[in-house]
Amino acid sequence: MAELTEDQTLIVETARAFAQERLRPNAARWEHEGLDRGVLQELAGLGFAGIYVREDVGGSGLSRLDAALIFEELSRGCIATAAFMSIHNMCAWMIDSFASPEQRQAWLPQLTAGEKIASYCLTEPGSGSDAAGLRTTAKADGNAHYVINGSKAFISGAGFSDLYVLMCRTGEDGPKGVSTVLVEAGTKGLSFGKQEDKMGWRAQPTAIVNFEDCRVPADNRIGPEGEGFKYAMKGLDGGRLNIAACALGGAQDALDRALAYVKERRQFGKRIADFQNTQFQLADMETDLAASRALLHQAARKLDAKTPDATKFCAMAKRFVTDTAFRVADQALQLHGGYGYLADYEVERIVRDLRVHRILEGTNEIMRVIVSRDILKA
Ligand SMILES: Cc1cc2nc3c(=O)[nH]c(=O)nc-3n(C[C@H](O)[C@H](O)[C@H](O)COP(=O)(O)OP(=O)(O)OC[C@H]3O[C@@H](n4cnc5c(N)ncnc54)[C@H](O)[C@@H]3O)c2cc1C
Repeated sequence: MAELTEDQTLIVETARAFAQERLRPNAARWEHEGLDRGVLQELAGLGFAGIYVREDVGGSGLSRLDAALIFEELSRGCIATAAFMSIHNMCAWMIDSFASPEQRQAWLPQLTAGEKIASYCLTEPGSGSDAAGLRTTAKADGNAHYVINGSKAFISGAGFSDLYVLMCRTGEDGPKGVSTVLVEAGTKGLSFGKQEDKMGWRAQPTAIVNFEDCRVPADNRIGPEGEGFKYAMKGLDGGRLNIAACALGGAQDALDRALAYVKERRQFGKRIADFQNTQFQLADMETDLAASRALLHQAARKLDAKTPDATKFCAMAKRFVTDTAFRVADQALQLHGGYGYLADYEVERIVRDLRVHRILEGTNEIMRVIVSRDILKA
């Protein structure tokens, strides 16, 4: 990573040291015990709870490229924790970018300090990829309140988080009728379904979020009515980079583990590393991750520069990096033979964790929809 600035090198070193000391030794345990709130606060202490939030509210004021570097390193320690922080960061950025000065001051200092954690609520049982079809409603009750009814599905942090960044319908059908409203934990009418039993990301809670005559102040709406879908999609541009960066970090960890293993394990009187098949496989894995990193960083630079093709590049990076990272992690498992299938070696957890990166924040099919729509429109 010779192209990094001195500051970026320091950021990478800080994130790497934390991930190796505080995350990696605990990742397997957290699958059973759940997220460690104290660790999330420690991450906030390093400035990682508001990475690209402005500094006047406690953010770190860093770039998307910086965030990609941070999330890759954190994910080399624990994919589930890193990805969870990435969603919190996406929510904080949406508030920083689209909320009023008063709302920014009211919410962001606690979020950037890690005292409060935020969840992103877009998906519904009936609308996943077709997110603009969402049906959760927020009906005005006089001028001062909304009454919210509906359900959100698959919400990361449901029941754990303190603030829910909710995309809901305040107007017509389709994207133009969607608004963004903040709902605090503890609000009457807000409840959670059972924790989902998942293939990966098991350290993280995921559940349905229900709203039943849930009354929130109209002041909790971010921006004007009807702008919420736009905010949600803008949040996802950066979110997709982070999800890709987390996939890259997980795959790098898997490759590191495979490199160590093939130098130790012997069969047919040789180290596994001495078979040319192994060597070529490792060479391809290293190349694939370098290509992924290059595309990810290019997309992050474009988002930082707000270029017109940034959304397309974020989608391309998310699709390419998450598919590649999953394949590399699976190859790392294969190089471990039967031991790769055992939890003790931890590669199987990485494979399980990385599977969902190809599904969420827009499936990889939807990434292809975004890219093909863009290149065919000319
Ligand atoms: C562990 C986990 C955590 C999540 N966390 C969150 C969260 O915090 N907040 C949140 O809002 N959501 C979250 N999600 C939801 C996630 O974003 C959705 O699952 C995802 O967007 C897909 O929606 P769906 O599951 O309804 O699938 P569907 O949209 O029903 O898709 C099913 C299949 O059809 C394909 N498909 C759909 N439409 C098209 C099309 N036009 N062209 C081609 N193929 C298509 C899809 O790619 C997919 O393969 C999470 C999901 C999981 C599994």
